[in-house]
Amino acid sequence: MKAIIIPSFKGGYKITETEIPRPNKDEVLVKVKLGALCYRDLLQLQGYYPRAKYPLILGHEMVGVIEDVGENVEGYSNGDRVTTMLYVPDWKCDACKLGEEYYCKNSKVYSQELDGFFAEYALVKWSTLVKIPSDVGDEAAVVTPCVSAMVLRGLKRSGIREGDYVLVTGAGGGVGVHAVQMAKALGGKVIAVTSSEDKAKFLSKIADHVIVGNKFSEDVRKIGDVRIVIDNVGPFTFDETLRVLKQGGKVIQIGNIDPSQSVNLRLGYLILKNIEIIGHAGAGKRDIEEALSLAREGKWRPVVSNILSFEEIEKGLQMLREKSNLGKILLRF
Ligand SMILES: [Zn+2]
Ligand SMILES: [Zn+2]
Repeated sequence: MKAIIIPSFKGGYKITETEIPRPNKDEVLVKVKLGALCYRDLLQLQGYYPRAKYPLILGHEMVGVIEDVGENVEGYSNGDRVTTMLYVPDWKCDACKLGEEYYCKNSKVYSQELDGFFAEYALVKWSTLVKIPSDVGDEAAVVTPCVSAMVLRGLKRSGIREGDYVLVTGAGGGVGVHAVQMAKALGGKVIAVTSSEDKAKFLSKIADHVIVGNKFSEDVRKIGDVRIVIDNVGPFTFDETLRVLKQGGKVIQIGNIDPSQSVNLRLGYLILKNIEIIGHAGAGKRDIEEALSLAREGKWRPVVSNILSFEEIEKGLQMLREKSNLGKILLRF
């Protein structure tokens, strides 16, 4: 099979021929249909994951069909269409027992401690699999674990209420376009902020209000009091984010995880407006299932800018670097 492999730390990647792996007793073999590119892939290629187990297969967002199952696997069989959580929890620590497996301290992450999924076939631990309802498409399925379910979990943590104004920064990006829809699905009135006029045109179809530019606080004041900000950007928007929030407002900080960037935190805003900042990553298995149900009900749709062949991954990575694409970039295997 062909696979996109990172041979060593900071070693770039190569598309190479390798043996189709065989599942051990707790694994299934999945014939990969689609993968999705993520900023985490870019950061990994830039060398931000020194402790990962190289060489490894890149990629953590995937949908495919089971082709072989290990002897301990229950409830899954050949032909099932599946996606997976992004990590493998131990399912037995205190966090896991509370149903908060996203806080598991012993979890192993796909494409870090375990091989990822950018290959014609991938091994997945059966405990992390999620079946795709037949009326949910591959494109929705592939963006669910890392994007839609992650945003859903973040909005739950914020305690979103019907009618809340929710502002989304970086709203035209791969996370943003889905955050806008998820906030709407949960009853929010959404203000989408983007730096691109082109992306604004699309966003006006899915958001209640659209603002172009990083200085948005004046415009937002004319619209309403914001209770929740989903900030996908960070350095260029964080100060404005704190400005627009009303008393008791919440920031769901999703972007960005580039360790070379930071924000200047004005404590006055934070304290006097009783603002909570929720650093957020990850989703649990139930969030993935719930996000898939919402997709099935038509509450959100996948926004995909390009579906490339996996051999064209460089083109996709370049679009990610330039932030030129609207929505997610998928790879077909
Ligand atoms: Zn991702
Ligand atoms: Zn655990």
